[in-house]
Amino acid sequence: MKKISVVIPAHNEEGNIPLIYQRVKDVFSTLENYRFEIIFVNDGSRDDTQKEIEELAQNNDEVKYIEFSRNFGHQHAVKAGMDSSTGNAMISMDADLQHPPELILELIKRWEEGFDIVYTIRTYPKQISAFKRKTSTLYYKFLTRISDVNLSEGGGSDFRLMDASVVDVVRNMNEADIFLRGLSNWMGFRRTGVHFTAGERATGESSYNLKKMMKFAFTGITAFSVKPLYLAAYLGFIFSALAAVGYGIYVIHSFISKTEISGWASLIMTVVFFGGVQLIILGIMGIYLGKIFNQVKERPNYIIRSKNF
Ligand code: UDP
Ligand code: MG
Repeated sequence: MKKISVVIPAHNEEGNIPLIYQRVKDVFSTLENYRFEIIFVNDGSRDDTQKEIEELAQNNDEVKYIEFSRNFGHQHAVKAGMDSSTGNAMISMDADLQHPPELILELIKRWEEGFDIVYTIRTYPKQISAFKRKTSTLYYKFLTRISDVNLSEGGGSDFRLMDASVVDVVRNMNEADIFLRGLSNWMGFRRTGVHFTAGERATGESSYNLKKMMKFAFTGITAFSVKPLYLAAYLGFIFSALAAVGYGIYVIHSFISKTEISGWASLIMTVVFFGGVQLIILGIMGIYLGKIFNQVKERPNYIIRSKNF
């Protein structure tokens, strides 16, 4: 009998834990040839998430849990679940039921057809704000453009199945800033996607506010592209060329008219403008430097406080 590990990161998901467990269990009860384990990863919840998970685990052998010592972030929670998964395949999905458990059937079907990674392509229902839908699509298009991985399809969702061999590859990666959506694409393997419509959260609220979304977006860009670093060189060339032309015009002008060009205001504006450009470039270099700093420290991606397996 094949075993499927379902990895569910949970940050303040009180109320959703029993719901998602029941739904996943119902799905597997329709499958005869598969066993499953659910690995809940409690990512520093401040509500009763841990209590609910432990209650489930007491009564159900297939419920495993990992409790982090604090909040380490969604991506690290999924990574932790993958690190400990023992199934022939692993499925990661959100705890808030926005990822319909019934789709697991489809994921397994495609896996059995021989695909190593089955990702999901999310279409947003109308209830999700237009802002979130639009920014998400634009972001993945942009990221695809500046990086070497294609994230336009299935980039925006961490609902996916990976064969044990793929999970093994991820397990052995030691990136301080992990961005699974990019990695799963970057690794290659035989891949396919299935569509689903994201539902609304069952209860509670999203942990991703605008600030966190921006941070996540930056992580994605800097983890998969060094193009922002080239910006300095490009801008340098452009402005040098402009300056050369401008200087030529100035010299010719002063020979012909024998008067100085006045222009205090434009001078100050230029100084301020280039000051700004240089700070932006420095900032971008700083971001990458910070990433190198984080990586060389080789701190663990997460710290486990308790675990029942
Ligand atoms: N999550 C997590 N750690 C965090 C934030 C979120 O483990 O720091 C989990 C959360 O419990 C959920 C999934 O990641 O299972 C997606 O989070 P959320 O629903 O808040 O994001 P959204 O669906 O709004 O993008
Ligand atoms: Mg959600």
